[in-house]
Amino acid sequence: MFTAFLIKYAEIGIKGKNRYIFEDTLIARMNQALRKVEGSFSISKEMGRIYVNTQGPFDYQEAVEALQHVFGIAEICPVVIVESKPVEELGKDLISYVEHAYPVHNQTFKMHVRRANKRYPGTSMELNAEFGGILLEAFPQMRVDVHNPEIFLQVEIREKVYIYSQSIPGPGGMPVGTNGKAMLLLSGGIDSPVAGYMISKRGVTIDAVYFHAPPYTSERAKQKVVDLARLVAKYSGPIHLHVVNFTEIQLAIYEKCPHDELTIIMRRYMMKIAEELAKKSGCLGLITGESIGQVASQTMHSLAATNEVCTMPVFRPVIGFDKQEIVDIALKIDTYETSIQPFEDCCTIFVAKHPVTKPNLEYIRKSETKLQDVIDDMLKTALETAETILVE
Ligand code: ATP
Ligand code: MG
Repeated sequence: MFTAFLIKYAEIGIKGKNRYIFEDTLIARMNQALRKVEGSFSISKEMGRIYVNTQGPFDYQEAVEALQHVFGIAEICPVVIVESKPVEELGKDLISYVEHAYPVHNQTFKMHVRRANKRYPGTSMELNAEFGGILLEAFPQMRVDVHNPEIFLQVEIREKVYIYSQSIPGPGGMPVGTNGKAMLLLSGGIDSPVAGYMISKRGVTIDAVYFHAPPYTSERAKQKVVDLARLVAKYSGPIHLHVVNFTEIQLAIYEKCPHDELTIIMRRYMMKIAEELAKKSGCLGLITGESIGQVASQTMHSLAATNEVCTMPVFRPVIGFDKQEIVDIALKIDTYETSIQPFEDCCTIFVAKHPVTKPNLEYIRKSETKLQDVIDDMLKTALETAETILVE
């Protein structure tokens, strides 16, 4: 019965001329999301509101689900649109709306009429009273409650008449594309897809980089990362995923550096390569799924040591989260099941039994000098041979 959706968005940060950028980007993202849904949709901006109009049959569930992945949307209200007509006739449409939208009819309700078409006779107050009366007569078990109604029934009288009362939560945030681009270090774990989702939610476009180490890490492990990128892309839009072959560098570190420093040194080279790729693709920052204290390489000392090689800001949106809090978001955004598939990543193979938890930067730098004859060429090769996959 619904033929349109009224889209409500949060007002924060979208005043003045930014409002148009925000709205136009939001509409572009909605169009992108709806392209994959069965049906014909058109989006219109009217008097500070955004409507999704449908032509002909469409898949309601799929359309709602697509819109629930578009950042910037706070609420999705399914709307019934009828021709404008006299009050008694509209009353019948309202009765049929309530009949179809609710299985039982014993709730409290409140009418809210907006007369956008000022030629329509009567004031909003009068129309509220008239429609309210019509509904009370049709549904004797319903009651009016103006303070805390179970059904808030809204009627907007324009060229046509829009009836709605339900609100489906959107994902919130800002439309992707309103806030620059960042490079996500995406591993096959639980945390990094969540980190990408969180930064993307603030309107940031995402590129990603994955370090793999064949034959120590399998094709299947790489496919898992592609799958995760695709799940994040449901929210963020298309992601350019750079797959960097890290084997040579990892083996060199393994051969030449103290094993308790392996992870830190490896993480430093990952950050370096990620930053180079980020610069080349116009990213303004890096994103990781690090959380203080989660593992040896994420103590405050380790984070400081890793961070030291970057000049770009590194965004770590889950830095203060407990594992369970991250898992909760992973479950919500549907990445969890994929993340827990048991495919090794390069970090699990080259881990030391007793990694340092308080790396000393001087020692780390000294260890890294053991790589000085080979590392520049290796970094160059890693960058040059990186494979880029467009994931959408
Ligand atoms: P995740 O954080 O995704 O669950 P993890 O817990 O195994 O993975 P670490 O290995 O400690 O995390 O790495 C911390 C962060 O470094 C990750 O969140 C991710 O951003 C980045 N990272 C680690 N390994 C890789 C990799 N192979 N490719 C790309 N980024 C990686
Ligand atoms: Mg982690």
